[in-house]
Amino acid sequence: MTIFDKSLTNDQIMMRDVCRRFVDDVIQPFISQNWQKEWDLTPEGRLPDNILIESEAIGIRTLGVPERFGGISLEPENEVRTFAVISEEIARGDSGLADKLVQNWKVSVLLRELASEEHQERWFGKLIEDPNFLFAHALTEPKGASDRWLGYNAPSAAMDTKAKKVDGGWVINGRKHYISNGYDAGLYIVYANTKPGTGMLEGTSSFILPRGAEGFKITRCNETVGCRYMNNGELEFIDCFVPDENLLCEGTALSKAGVYFRPGKIIQSAKNLGVGQSALEKTAQFVQNYSRGGRLLIKHQIVASRLADMATKVSAVRSLVLQAAYACDMKTSDADALCWMAKVFASEEILKVCQNAMELHGGMGAMLDAGIEKLMRDASIFLHMDATVDISHFKIVKSLWPDTAGTYAGPEESS
Ligand SMILES: Cc1cc2nc3c(=O)[nH]c(=O)nc-3n(C[C@H](O)[C@H](O)[C@H](O)COP(=O)(O)OP(=O)(O)OC[C@H]3O[C@@H](n4cnc5c(N)ncnc54)[C@H](O)[C@@H]3O)c2cc1C
Repeated sequence: MTIFDKSLTNDQIMMRDVCRRFVDDVIQPFISQNWQKEWDLTPEGRLPDNILIESEAIGIRTLGVPERFGGISLEPENEVRTFAVISEEIARGDSGLADKLVQNWKVSVLLRELASEEHQERWFGKLIEDPNFLFAHALTEPKGASDRWLGYNAPSAAMDTKAKKVDGGWVINGRKHYISNGYDAGLYIVYANTKPGTGMLEGTSSFILPRGAEGFKITRCNETVGCRYMNNGELEFIDCFVPDENLLCEGTALSKAGVYFRPGKIIQSAKNLGVGQSALEKTAQFVQNYSRGGRLLIKHQIVASRLADMATKVSAVRSLVLQAAYACDMKTSDADALCWMAKVFASEEILKVCQNAMELHGGMGAMLDAGIEKLMRDASIFLHMDATVDISHFKIVKSLWPDTAGTYAGPEESS
């Protein structure tokens, strides 16, 4: 039993072990035997339905849904740590599948905190009854997402997507891009500027928007370098009417989304960790079974040293992710800084772990059917998901030294 196992509750160990078996018996065989599927340019053809159906069967598709609506109850004081443990396990099998599922958890957290009882009953009901039903969270638009994270509160940084009040509801116009599950979700949380001329912290509202609403179009599936089993999409709103009851939060939607952002960072870094764990396991297996110069690779000191470095990085990331998740569960004052640290540290260190995996596999590391380069591609995406490396650094400094750190953006000086 490892020190990490010791830190988990019996329930967490049980859930993790069920998930691990699912990954070993279903996900990894699917990925290795069907490596070409990732490159199917018909997005619907990539991931067979049975994978989501089987995820449903072991209960990992709807974490975050309250028990009274059919979800699995997680102990509130351990919830974020449970998210971390399960995200790591799924991503050890496939990072895109993990992306697909965790969007459901994150949006469920948001809905259970902010949505009316009627909306919760309706949308959690849909999620529970249909294994292919997905949620999406649509914040980023072509104008850029970094301003959203930095919270630069000036009218010039507000969103281009606008919602205008009309009789009985709101009319949305604009675009969103890079949205996880954006291509195939059944329900979207969409952010729009509802008070032109004010900063985004007072002027951004969020809306519950079902797929198929009039004026709402999914314009394309983005083809990405990694995490390809999650269909990332672009959305367009042309005079899209949303009834009043679908307004989730008026004006202060960005600060209210905080309940989603912190567990979101933990889930993000834990998925990243799962990719690193997979790279480490595959490489350890390889160097203990493959000989060069008459000796197993692991017996060459330079190989052993690289493997030790990979194992150390994976352990260091796991320690920080679990510490940050614990801080979230305990709602401590350092939770915010730790979440950003875990997210950015994982994204940089796991990429290096995957680079070492590529190096130690030699030419095989570059072959699509060997599955090692896939880990490197999947890991590279985490640099940009949920904020870039540089923006994450800004957030850490602002969180630790809020009085002096200041702002990092503003209108250009006119000459
Ligand atoms: C696979 C994937 C999935 C995603 N899923 C979602 C999703 O589900 N929902 C969603 O809303 N978004 C999603 N995103 C968007 C993601 O959050 C953004 O791509 C990310 O936050 C960066 O924003 P941007 O692409 O607009 O880059 P920009 O904000 O345009 O930044 C470009 C560059 O400028 C730098 N920069 C920006 N501002 C400053 C500054 N003030 N000072 C110094 N440097 C600065 C950045 O660090 C970066 O290097 C996803 C992205 C990817 C790649």
